Amino acid sequence: MQIRPLPDTLINQIAAGEVVERPASVVKELVENALDAGAGRVDIDLEEGGTRLIRIRDDGRGIARDELALAVSRHATSKIASLEDLEGVGTLGFRGEALPSIASVSRFRITSRREEDEHAHAIEVDGGRVAPPVPRPHPRGTTVEVRDLFYNVPARRKFLRAERTEFGHIEEWLRQLALARPQVELRVTHNGKPSRRWKGEADLLSDVRLHETLGPEFARHAMRVDHEGAGLRLHGWIARPAYNRASADQQYLYCNSRAIRDRSVAHAVKLAYSDVMYHGRQPAYVLFLELDPRRVDVNVHPAKHEVRFRDSRLVHDFVYRTLQSALAETRAGADGQAGQ
Ligand code: ADP
Ligand code: MG
Repeated sequence: MQIRPLPDTLINQIAAGEVVERPASVVKELVENALDAGAGRVDIDLEEGGTRLIRIRDDGRGIARDELALAVSRHATSKIASLEDLEGVGTLGFRGEALPSIASVSRFRITSRREEDEHAHAIEVDGGRVAPPVPRPHPRGTTVEVRDLFYNVPARRKFLRAERTEFGHIEEWLRQLALARPQVELRVTHNGKPSRRWKGEADLLSDVRLHETLGPEFARHAMRVDHEGAGLRLHGWIARPAYNRASADQQYLYCNSRAIRDRSVAHAVKLAYSDVMYHGRQPAYVLFLELDPRRVDVNVHPAKHEVRFRDSRLVHDFVYRTLQSALAETRAGADGQAGQ
């Protein structure tokens, strides 16, 4: 075969393979966009586990009519403009590929209005074809509707699981987001019925949200951690060793408000617990690591849940020492039941 450039829609569908695994990944990307737009409230409506419909509405800053088509075209972003911006990126998004990827594998519509606009405009994308913007009623903010995910990619559609399973994945993502952004109100409906609501809380992570998200038992055993040093800050909640799990299902780790998975940090946590917890049991925690964005590379994977610390050893040791000294207090008998 001759070498030929791929058509745009196909390029987007290929990228979608990495960014859009299932409805939960769509919800994640769209809610992250809402948060990057400064939303105070995000409404999430789902049908059939998100496979039939995902509709995310926010009250954020919106998109200009003439930029709607750009928003759904590849590598177009308002979040970075240079390598320097990339190296210090503070937003959740920056790659400019979520919307075009999602739009290429669904029936897609985005409606948006900025404060200064007289009315909102919408564009529709169907299987990659972008229609011109039309006026539509909508308050300030943005609504993205994603229907029939993977309708045009049968190979992918086949991998969608039962409605309940897909919904479960979405809930898991939302829990992660809810913990990191307690100021933001989140409302979820599923098949037309209210399903979940997180009220916006004023403080960073109120006990209410912790309680709701991880359950009363976690909250009862949680101890607060907050430590700074070497330009790093680690804060959040860790469970006293008496509360432990069979699996790693209650381990929430964030780096600069982004939910991440990191083997080195997970190892540091495990090591800190190793003296105070039975072998094979898993600790529970919600931990926020904060550092200068220039000290961490978030551009490692398209789905952005991995990062690379410029000084990984330092981060590992900082996390280990912080938690070890917090846990030493429980060993000294602070809660009376931690000794094993
Ligand atoms: P990225 O988030 O990496 O920039 P996306 O494809 O997710 O890429 O979005 C492209 C652009 O569309 C964003 O940079 C932003 O300017 C705009 N955008 C997307 N969603 C929203 C939203 N909910 N509110 C305001 N602007 C949005
Ligand atoms: Mg984005």
